Amino acid sequence: MKYLLSGKLYCGYCEAGMVGESGTGKSGEKHHYYICSTKKRKRSDCNKKIVRKEWLENLVVNETIKHILQPDKVALIAKRCAELSAKENSQNEELKYLPKRKKASII
Ligand SMILES: [Zn+2]
Repeated sequence: MKYLLSGKLYCGYCEAGMVGESGTGKSGEKHHYYICSTKKRKRSDCNKKIVRKEWLENLVVNETIKHILQPDKVALIAKRCAELSAKENSQNEELKYLPKRKKASII
């Protein structure tokens, strides 16, 4: 079972990571949920209740589509990524010497 929010979700009470876990109910039905890792380890040291996986992942995906995966936002993100990449490339000493090496190898 893949937990989409693993490594991206933190407990609002104790700031520990939330981890995916599953359990089987009395009826034999399997449940998937996220649990605060502090609570998982110590069982009582955090007040965060478990959160149903499907409910939370649907919420996050829908809000991401609504607020981020919109044409204007995607264009802005692409522009900023290109600017950041260009800045990193201009600061990369190795890349500065590549054109010189290329020229030298042609001669
Ligand atoms: Zn917690």
